[in-house]
Amino acid sequence: MSRIYNFYSGPSTLPLTALEEVSAKLVDFEGAGMSLIEMSHRGREYDRIHNETIALFREILKVPDDFHVVFLQGGATMLFGLVPMALIPRNGHADFILTGHWGVRAHEDASTIADARIVWDGKGDGFRRIPARGELALSGDAAYVHLCSNETIGGIQWSEFPDTGGVPLVVDMSSDIMSRPLDWDRFAMVFAGTQKNLAPAGMTVMVVRDDFARTARRDLPSYFRLDLHIDNNSLFNTPPTFIVWMMNLTLRWIKSIGGMAEVERRRDAKAGLVYSAIDASGGFYTSPVDASSRSKMNVVWHLHDAALLDPFLKEAEKAGLAGLKGHRSVGGLRASIYNAMPVEGAKALADFMNHFRERHG
Ligand code: PMP
Repeated sequence: MSRIYNFYSGPSTLPLTALEEVSAKLVDFEGAGMSLIEMSHRGREYDRIHNETIALFREILKVPDDFHVVFLQGGATMLFGLVPMALIPRNGHADFILTGHWGVRAHEDASTIADARIVWDGKGDGFRRIPARGELALSGDAAYVHLCSNETIGGIQWSEFPDTGGVPLVVDMSSDIMSRPLDWDRFAMVFAGTQKNLAPAGMTVMVVRDDFARTARRDLPSYFRLDLHIDNNSLFNTPPTFIVWMMNLTLRWIKSIGGMAEVERRRDAKAGLVYSAIDASGGFYTSPVDASSRSKMNVVWHLHDAALLDPFLKEAEKAGLAGLKGHRSVGGLRASIYNAMPVEGAKALADFMNHFRERHG
């Protein structure tokens, strides 16, 4: 078997131990004579995996007792609709901070059904930085404030979350959940698609504070009712059992390596390696984002000569480094260095970048 280093932005690389365990148990789950993904989601085996996964998530991220952990299908995109639908009251409004593609998408979706106000827009300077608290024109009486913690395409990330003065803060953490400990006092809701740091694509995890969740409308179709998901422990309808199982294995891997402290240590080592290769290149590689706003999950950069992009990608692929092409909307290069990317992968990429520069610089 030869595994390459996979820098795709999501779906993305998963822990090898998780893939190995799922392949060993896929056909016959622990002697049951059938696969876990063939079993009832109301059965004993799945029930154990389901509850253990929620418990592991809570333990690793130190989720307080007054928050619920909810599993939903439909991707983070579904939450762009569900959250405003359920949580902006009639005649109410929400505040949106636009730091890039995903903040814009959330705002656009909310605008189709409610009053969604822009309280900061980074478009004018090319979405290259995270705003300071003083720049946000928060309305003060919004149902909530929405922001995206890590812009997967633009490569900028909030390092500290703003104090919203008692207004509930809703954060799309799709591309940096589980990459750092969280100060839960700051948030009313956090949500994330699973396909970067948690599992394969197919599920969204929502962590929501009880008092905020209880303000959600109930005059909605059943799937959009938070109370039904919460009160049924994410078993209101059929959950994506395979994704929950994979998330279970990913979380067990995180625990086995030393939890959040080790995740953070590796994250900083990996980001440091790739950003150093950019910064030490004498302008051969350039970063389009402000240094203070750089993402530690998605490193975005450009080549000084755009004609070198194709050769870079082709040679990288040959060297076993896949998925480095930047998003089509911004071009250039991007390395997604999620939790399951080993430090050796970032080292291999940095070495490749240095050698490529020596040959083409
Ligand atoms: N938010 C962010 C930050 C993302 O990176 C993505 C997907 N890459 C989404 C939302 C949308 O997620 P999904 O495709 O699962 O709906």
